[in-house]
Amino acid sequence: MRYAQIRSMDISNGEGVGVSLFVQGCPFHCKNCFNSETWDFNGGKEWTEKIKNKFMELIDRPYIKRVSFLGGECLAEQNLDEVLKLTQQIRNSFPDKTIWLYTGYDFDILNSKYNEYKYTPFAASADEWLTRWEIISNVDVLVDGEYIDEQKDLTLKFRGSKNQRVIDVKQSLTQSKMVLYCD
Ligand code: SF4
Repeated sequence: MRYAQIRSMDISNGEGVGVSLFVQGCPFHCKNCFNSETWDFNGGKEWTEKIKNKFMELIDRPYIKRVSFLGGECLAEQNLDEVLKLTQQIRNSFPDKTIWLYTGYDFDILNSKYNEYKYTPFAASADEWLTRWEIISNVDVLVDGEYIDEQKDLTLKFRGSKNQRVIDVKQSLTQSKMVLYCD
């Protein structure tokens, strides 16, 4: 995996004070994307063991309440394995910190692909869709959907366009339906 940036103390991109990781590479290319320099999968910097350890150290501070994954696209095929490992490690090492993840994928599509492939795990593409859902299940809050410039609204909390949703993943999984974290 490659990454664009780590913010060690981020008060946007989630609730409370957090550490944010901007991964590199995005296939969506939304019009007027706020972060188009992260589109190129060969851009940014190499994600190494040393950087990962530093990232974990940044999270391991008492006033850090949240970790956010943004991009770039965290659920792009190229980033899946490392993002899965990171969300698992954060979940295990810091169970009291919340994990936020921003994706251009739609929650309902992620869910329907999981339901489609969970009984056919050897089908083409199954692995990547099952991994996406595994990542989602480690996350507390998911901000979903591509940025649609025509639906831009600067008054929205935690997102840029009206089509995007801030989803309470744990409640959505418990209730088997999409539950918003906030409007
Ligand atoms: S999904 Fe996000 S990073 Fe990718 S193009 Fe759209 S706004 Fe930019």
